[in-house]
Amino acid sequence: MEQTTYGSLDAMPPTEPHTEKKPALVGVGLKKSFGAVHALAGVDITIGEHEQVAIMGPSGSGKSTLLHVLSGILLPTEGTVNFGTVPVSTLRDAARSKLRLKSFGFVFQDGQLVPELTSLENVALPLLLNGESKHAAVSTAKEWLERLGVGDQLKKRPGEMSGGQAQRVAIARALVHHPAVVFADEPTGALDQATGHEVMQILTSAIRMSGATLVLITHDVKVAAWCDRLVEIRDGLLHTDRPMSEVVER
Ligand code: ADP
Ligand code: MG
Repeated sequence: MEQTTYGSLDAMPPTEPHTEKKPALVGVGLKKSFGAVHALAGVDITIGEHEQVAIMGPSGSGKSTLLHVLSGILLPTEGTVNFGTVPVSTLRDAARSKLRLKSFGFVFQDGQLVPELTSLENVALPLLLNGESKHAAVSTAKEWLERLGVGDQLKKRPGEMSGGQAQRVAIARALVHHPAVVFADEPTGALDQATGHEVMQILTSAIRMSGATLVLITHDVKVAAWCDRLVEIRDGLLHTDRPMSEVVER
């Protein structure tokens, strides 16, 4: 795979799956139904600290639902999710919101930036919501935007940038508060292939640098290849779970 350098981030070689995996997130017996639709039909999954896990599978197979349940956006119908010692799936709404704000970062396909706010304000927001002073939040936000190669877009609103630039801003926003886990749901889905690969390269490098865990949904095996491990979901069940080195040549 071609490796390039962007901004001040050095492209690091893809890592091998970690051997000593201290669990970051543990899902046991996860089921989620929406009426008669069984989006998750009984998933057991352990995601290790610092691991980068790609989740693939056909449309409608339950990938997004799994991400929402693991991150506490949705509660499972059955089963449990634990983040370290935190019982995510039994926390009340307010506690789960607080956990997400403090310990998790999110990158979605598009539209997750606040359209009325500038890049700088969007990236400073998680810090402000976590109680940092405006001065500290703005200065850290600026550092992250520079690190991600969009230091010249501070005053732009999401609608005034290209898709790739907006996703770099979104990545900065997902990482600015040093989350333990970053959840990304098709983060390159709205980008052309070349831009998508740039964005993935910068996302995975920035996450390695920050030491966070990555849970990434994608339908592009080339995008998945940036991760250490590939989990395939079919019909709400875990179909395969393999180290990436067994799946793609490096
Ligand atoms: P994927 O991300 O793999 O495309 P999803 O997790 O979004 O799949 O969806 C899995 C199944 O659950 C699909 O049949 C979808 O229609 C259904 N589903 C997901 N979210 C909802 C919801 N909020 N209400 C009703 N059905 C839903
Ligand atoms: Mg989805």
